[in-house]
Amino acid sequence: MSIMQEFESIRKEIGETKYQAIENYLSERPELFLDDIYYKESEWNKFEEWYNKESSETYRYRITSTGGNSIKYGNCEICGKPATEIFHQVEERSYKNSFEEVIHFTQNKCTNYFGHKECLESKQR
Ligand SMILES: [Zn+2]
Repeated sequence: MSIMQEFESIRKEIGETKYQAIENYLSERPELFLDDIYYKESEWNKFEEWYNKESSETYRYRITSTGGNSIKYGNCEICGKPATEIFHQVEERSYKNSFEEVIHFTQNKCTNYFGHKECLESKQR
């Protein structure tokens, strides 16, 4: 396999975002090469540490009323008690880092609930 092909496959394996991050990381450290980070565990760990420090995750929430009560939608999913008005909460995770302008929003690994408004709010991280 040629060097170029090898770098291409590394890129696929670690994903575009992280690959970009490595390029940023390397541009600040002229003594290092991609090989060093990818193949030396100690360098990879140092990179990971830097990467986590440069990235942050936050959550945002949307609560909307279903307009119905527990007879229609079932009891509150959090406290298990009936409610006169059931709300729906959608959780989204935002992912931000200092080497990209964009903020990503995803519902991956997020939880949505139906229930009392106060119960939903108590589940916010
Ligand atoms: Zn409740």
